Amino acid sequence: MLAKTQHYLKQANLIAGEWVVADSGDVLTVTNPATGLEIGKVPSAGKSETRRAIDAAAEAFETFSQTTANERAKILRNMHDAMLDNQDALAELLTMEQGKPLAEAKGEIAIGAAYLLWFAEEGRRVYGDLVPSPWADRRIMVRKEPVGVVAAITPWNFPSSMLARKIGPAIATGCTSVIKPASQTPYSGLAWGVLAEEAGLPAGVMNIVTGRASEIGGELTRNPKVKKLTFTGSTEVGKTLLKQAAGTVKKVSMELGGNAPFIIFNSADIDRAVEGAIAAKFRNSGQTCVCTNRFYVQSKVYNKFVDRLGEAAEALKVGPGLDAGTQQGPLIDEAAVEKVEELIGDAEKKGGRIVAGGKRHELGKTFYQPTVIADAKSRMRFAREEIFGPVAPVFKFTKEEDAVRLANDTEFGLACYFYTQDLGQAYRVMEGLKYGLVGINEGVITTPEAPFGGMKESGLGTEGGRHGVDEYLETKYICVGGLGL
Ligand code: ADP
Repeated sequence: MLAKTQHYLKQANLIAGEWVVADSGDVLTVTNPATGLEIGKVPSAGKSETRRAIDAAAEAFETFSQTTANERAKILRNMHDAMLDNQDALAELLTMEQGKPLAEAKGEIAIGAAYLLWFAEEGRRVYGDLVPSPWADRRIMVRKEPVGVVAAITPWNFPSSMLARKIGPAIATGCTSVIKPASQTPYSGLAWGVLAEEAGLPAGVMNIVTGRASEIGGELTRNPKVKKLTFTGSTEVGKTLLKQAAGTVKKVSMELGGNAPFIIFNSADIDRAVEGAIAAKFRNSGQTCVCTNRFYVQSKVYNKFVDRLGEAAEALKVGPGLDAGTQQGPLIDEAAVEKVEELIGDAEKKGGRIVAGGKRHELGKTFYQPTVIADAKSRMRFAREEIFGPVAPVFKFTKEEDAVRLANDTEFGLACYFYTQDLGQAYRVMEGLKYGLVGINEGVITTPEAPFGGMKESGLGTEGGRHGVDEYLETKYICVGGLGL
């Protein structure tokens, strides 16, 4: 382990500027998914610690909300610089607990830093309005104010950058926060505490608690001092949190599950489509909410695409994320491997044809072969369920309208991708797809400049882009009357 990695590896929670253990002294053990070996232990906190963190954030809001956007942007820029200066250490920590290849982990740290810079800049452009008044003697003003204490709950698949998208706009707008990272990957979340302290963020502005998810989540969603909840995770937990947050009518942002279709039309550039398909499917071992879940390929290019995707999948180098040259790391745990096995078993029973992979990898336990299954059918479970693993089911279609209908036949609406060289088709299909993110001839499209968010049951609100700041702001209308004009 790099010496600097040790510096960022915190085994305590950050509450009101103090690094503390759980009240009970209980801990959670964190393991490396590639080896099964223990990395360390973090506090198993619950309701009382969360309440204190919320109190600290509420108190800090009184002063932090009065700072200037420039002061806050400076802190974000300091954090950005520290992330890039320590990219190797932060990436090593991320790979150790999450499993993804080091190159992907470095990419995650870089995009997290880019989000901070984006929000540092956007925070200085939180404009209000002066609206033409319908009354001669009154004037109308609209101003934007920080919403207050923000609760942020994040998943294990992007344990660092998911927080950048939440902490960035919170700090930029003058909000304070209580963060709960995922139990599998708490260290990348706790490292944000070190980054924040060293960047000059005042005590209490950002608090981090790890531990019992439903207890912490219960307090974060029910405590009236919390004014906004931002959650990234499963649709199931998201719905529970939405219900809980209803009691105090909190502002909410939800980034939930997906079931991304990837459509290849006859006119597509197949080389480009295969390259995009590999990135959109096998990145992070298929464990992202924007990863392709279903490939739909038009009949004339079906066999060619299946063969080429199979070859490309077999060529991927599987191994521990810290090993040089690894392109696909382990899955997060054995339960994830078992789910993949179940879905493949179901597809095989129903006529699916394994073109590549289809078995546990020889490295054992959490490693699974990159897999391609041809002759996929709508009755197979992965047509509806999020796979979250390195499995690419390939369906065949004939007509454009069928592809769009099948692609939309899901309660989810996060990301979709399609490949065509026909401009008219590109517009028709883009307009027909009910998805918040559309990649046309591109398989990886996330960037801080663009809004990221799902339609339908994939979520509420957006992160990133100029829109991502609004989620952290309240709108106040001021009517100035009696002007005697
Ligand atoms: P995933 O399937 O990606 O693990 P989850 O929705 O289970 O997605 O987890 C996302 C985040 O939500 C994690 O930080 C997890 O600990 C947290 N979480 C899970 N259950 C609850 C809950 N009942 N209340 C609050 N947070 C929860």
